[in-house]
Amino acid sequence: MNKYHQVTPAVLTALQAIVGEKYVYTDRDKCIPYECDEGVGKEYIHMPEAVVLPADAAQTAAIMRLANRERIPVVPRGAGTGLEFGAVVNEFGGIILSTERMNRIVEIDAERLYMVVEPGVVTAVLQEEAEKQGLLYAGDPCSGDSCCIGGNAATNAGGNRAVRYGTTRDQIYSIEVVTPTGEITTFGSRLKKVSTGYPLEKIIIGSEGTLGIITKLTLRLVPLPQHTAHILAVFPSVDTALSLVTALPKEGIEVTCLEFMDHEVIRVVGQYLDEKQPYADQNGNYMIIQLDGKSEADLDDGCIAVDEVCRQCGAMEVFAADAAKVWKVRKVFTEASAAECPVAAMEDFVVPPDQLKELLDQLQAVGRTQHISFRGVSHAGDGNLHLDVLRRGFTEEESQEKVEAFEDTAYRIVYSLGGRISGEHGIGQKRKKWLARYTDPVALQLMKAVKKAFDPNGILNPGKLFDME
Ligand SMILES: Cc1cc2nc3c(=O)[nH]c(=O)nc-3n(C[C@H](O)[C@H](O)[C@H](O)COP(=O)(O)OP(=O)(O)OC[C@H]3O[C@@H](n4cnc5c(N)ncnc54)[C@H](O)[C@@H]3O)c2cc1C
Repeated sequence: MNKYHQVTPAVLTALQAIVGEKYVYTDRDKCIPYECDEGVGKEYIHMPEAVVLPADAAQTAAIMRLANRERIPVVPRGAGTGLEFGAVVNEFGGIILSTERMNRIVEIDAERLYMVVEPGVVTAVLQEEAEKQGLLYAGDPCSGDSCCIGGNAATNAGGNRAVRYGTTRDQIYSIEVVTPTGEITTFGSRLKKVSTGYPLEKIIIGSEGTLGIITKLTLRLVPLPQHTAHILAVFPSVDTALSLVTALPKEGIEVTCLEFMDHEVIRVVGQYLDEKQPYADQNGNYMIIQLDGKSEADLDDGCIAVDEVCRQCGAMEVFAADAAKVWKVRKVFTEASAAECPVAAMEDFVVPPDQLKELLDQLQAVGRTQHISFRGVSHAGDGNLHLDVLRRGFTEEESQEKVEAFEDTAYRIVYSLGGRISGEHGIGQKRKKWLARYTDPVALQLMKAVKKAFDPNGILNPGKLFDME
């Protein structure tokens, strides 16, 4: 039985009183963009009963108090670029709370190296604003041109620079949060160290909008690297390419990005862009490496060291790459892949980086046995493998069964290698069955107890990550 209530005309009037009439959408045309995200799976598409656009934390808190009184689910949403249907209403119904009006950069302090932003700021916009002041916001998901910083925090987004700077959690000093019951509070502080109670900001970050709504963030900045090189190393095999993942840190070389693309991906991307890629006709496998240096000389030394290690690992050629070109090739993967063949599932496996090679070997064997084709790119430096499972050789109707069988085996392998289901995309609705299956029961029980403590009525984003009953 659905314990939630529907949005009534009286509730709509109350929402309009909080945010203003024009910021409550109920028209089908206006609500359609909010019925899905960028994930794969028709069964998760769900029209919200209403979409509400608060201007600030006070309005957000008022909406949460109303939703608690009326027992109406609230789903927070940034730009909707998520891949696991976390920002989409489900069978419980309810409203989408969009942060798109909360899109101000409040402050950039170039002296103290931080910036304060609202959750609806597009990630690329805040990166550009920091850059204008000679500063770097180090979070860098591939979707940066469209996703929002609030969504990045809620999913603990990773991306290309995570190998050096860590994930979004590592870029955040503190967050203002509206609790599920409608209080406004701040977790975290601009401190280098702290041993004062539980670090609640660390739990909210990555909780995928189930424990609180982030309404402001204080972000860490670093000086913008002045000397940067982009290197493309081409390897004759997947194994030789991936051996770089352990070889670089062993030599004490700290890279900013280390991205892997295999020869099949390079072929598909080349075809999509209609551009011949280097070594594509010789089954070349790419490692894209970004290196930052304190000075020109420091960078030169770094490049020489990287070149040497790449060649020791078996690279056929190591190029100084054009940054725009090489990153275009990497970032267009999702579109290129889908254009060539329908994608049945997008995986986000993460294992210790030294286990990537083993993971790919074992997955190849599963693919052969189960007649599943896939291709993938990897944030190789942090052991994160994005795999597109292709709908090739089976119909859309057969897709669910085939993908489930593959995922069951694949996750077993991932966990046996010390990995987890998701490195950066999260669990959302799509992977909650697997989270329940593969998480230690004690840990799962404690996660549910945390949810209950934050959200006693189960109002905020119910049915995401796990089911409560
Ligand atoms: C082409 C492409 C490339 C991508 N590349 C990467 C990548 O490199 N790295 C990576 O990590 N991800 C990547 N993603 C996934 C996605 O872009 C990220 O998960 C991103 O962080 C989502 O941000 P968003 O604003 O779109 O959030 P949404 O999709 O709107 O929401 C995502 C989740 O966060 C919650 N949420 C959103 N805003 C708030 C808030 N203010 N408070 C509380 N909860 C909130 C939602 O409820 C939902 O559960 C990619 C996606 C695409 C389509």
